[in-house]
Parts: sequence; C-alpha cells; structure tokens
Amino acid sequence: MLHYTEPMYRPPSEADDIFIQVTQGCSHNACSFCGQYKATPFHVEPMEQVKSDIIEASRIYPNKKRVYLLSGDPFVLSFDKLEQIGLWINQYMPQIETIAMFASINTIKRKTDEELKSLFGLKMNLLYLGIETGDPEALAFANKGHTVDDAYTQLMRLKKIGIGYLSAYIAGLTGEGREKGLENAKNSAVFFNLVPPVMLGVTSLSIWENTPIGQMRKEGKFTPASEIQILEETKELLEGLESPMYFSSVHVSNLVPVTGVIPQDKTRMINTLTKQIAQMRKQDSVPRYDGRDGMM
Ligand code: SF4
Repeated sequence: MLHYTEPMYRPPSEADDIFIQVTQGCSHNACSFCGQYKATPFHVEPMEQVKSDIIEASRIYPNKKRVYLLSGDPFVLSFDKLEQIGLWINQYMPQIETIAMFASINTIKRKTDEELKSLFGLKMNLLYLGIETGDPEALAFANKGHTVDDAYTQLMRLKKIGIGYLSAYIAGLTGEGREKGLENAKNSAVFFNLVPPVMLGVTSLSIWENTPIGQMRKEGKFTPASEIQILEETKELLEGLESPMYFSSVHVSNLVPVTGVIPQDKTRMINTLTKQIAQMRKQDSVPRYDGRDGMM
C-alpha cells in the first residue's frame, strides 16, 4: 500500500497524477495567512519508503504521465535526495513526462544552477510556487520568508533553465483599504510581467483562526477587504498584466471566477469583473466579505 499522511494538498490541475509522499507538512510553516500544516510537524519520509512507493505505484499506474510529490515543499529536500527520487521515478516509470511539486523561493535558492539543470533533466520540470504578491509591503505581511528581489532572481534562474512554474496571487491580502489593495495589484502585475508564470492563479484571502491573520482579526487588528474591493483588486491586476500567461480565478474562494489567456482573453475577463462590480454597486447593501474560514 502507498503511504499517505493527512493533510495532503495538491493543485487541482494535478488531480490525476500519481502521488508520492516525500515530506509531511511544510518546513517554513510561518506564512501569516496559512493554517494548512499548523498541526503537522515537518518531516522527511524515509528514502526506502519513497522507493518502495515508487515501485508499487509503477505497477498500479503503468500508463500515467505525471507524478506529483507531496507535501508542503518537497523542493526543500537536498539535491542528493531529489536526484535519487528522480532517478528512481525515471527507472521504474520511464513513461513519466513531468514530476511536479510545491516549492518555495528559498528552497530554489539553495540549489546551484547545475543542480537545477540535473533535476530538470530528470523531468522535475514544473514547480508550484506561492509567490502571492509582488508588492514588498504585502509580501512582508505575508511572511513568506523571501523578498521581491529574491523572487525575481530565483524565477529568472528557473526560466533560464527551462523549469516551468505556476504561481498564486492572494487578493485581499492587505485587508480593508481600497488603495492598498490596488497598489498591491499594480505592483504585482509589474512583477509578474517581468517573470511570468505559466499560470497565475488568484484566490481571495481565506482567514484561518489558527494563523497570525486569524489572530489579528480576532483582536480587531485586521479587517477583511470587502467583496467589491477584492473584485476591483483582481481587475486591477488583470489590467496590468501584459506578458503571456494563463490567468485563472476559478477557485472556490472567489466570488466571480474568470479564466483565460493573457493577452487575448484579457478584455473579456475585465468586462466580466466590471459588470459584476457595477451590479454590486447598484445594490442597496453590498455583501460583506468577512473571510472564508478554512477554505484554500
Ligand atoms: S503557504 Fe506554503 S510555504 Fe507558507 S506556510 Fe503554507 S504551505 Fe508553507
């Protein structure tokens, strides 16, 4: 039997992959908005177990083309371990085309160019990154453990090597205050134009009680952005995006899902948001966004 430990999170686009658990929890576990792994101490799975899971999975799924490594940030593993895992996957599942996983800017930083190239050669060619914002102030508030400059440098390295990456943006991260939200969106659009991800996925800030932001809300120090503000921020972000990328706000936390390719579908997506914002402005009372507890 394959070894899995709850909680497990994986991107919707990897739902049909083979899942191999190589870590539990998240080694950072300190982002101000994230409660995913608060009750899960970070742990590296034994390599013998990873190998036996790869062998077993190769028998169960002989035709699958993608492997997804669990959990929070498997890229934190040393190069030697990642290389060994890649070698086993290539040996026992030669049909695999992509080995994807979550990664962070800091764990990319710890790998040399040569190491990244080797991992890319082993089909570790797609990383999911929680960049969340390209605005220095919002990023510091998110406590991701990296700066905007760090993110730019590491994403440029991935681009040069050819490793694809997808990124998240959190609308409403800066809380109540239209100008702060718009500023976050503007600066983030500039950032993502410089280092465009394959896909930029937008979520609306979800507030978990077991997080610093959850605590701040409880103490009255953080007020969530309104629904209109979230939509205006998402629209501002879209308006600023120019570099080719896939854009998606199809996430359960978003009131109005839009999806499409930048630049060709940009106007359609902006029009959808504009219409919804106008409609909400006409209403006598605009529904209050009060955070969506525990939804990611
Ligand atoms: S958002 Fe990602 S990096 Fe941050 S604590 Fe959660 S799992 Fe870890």
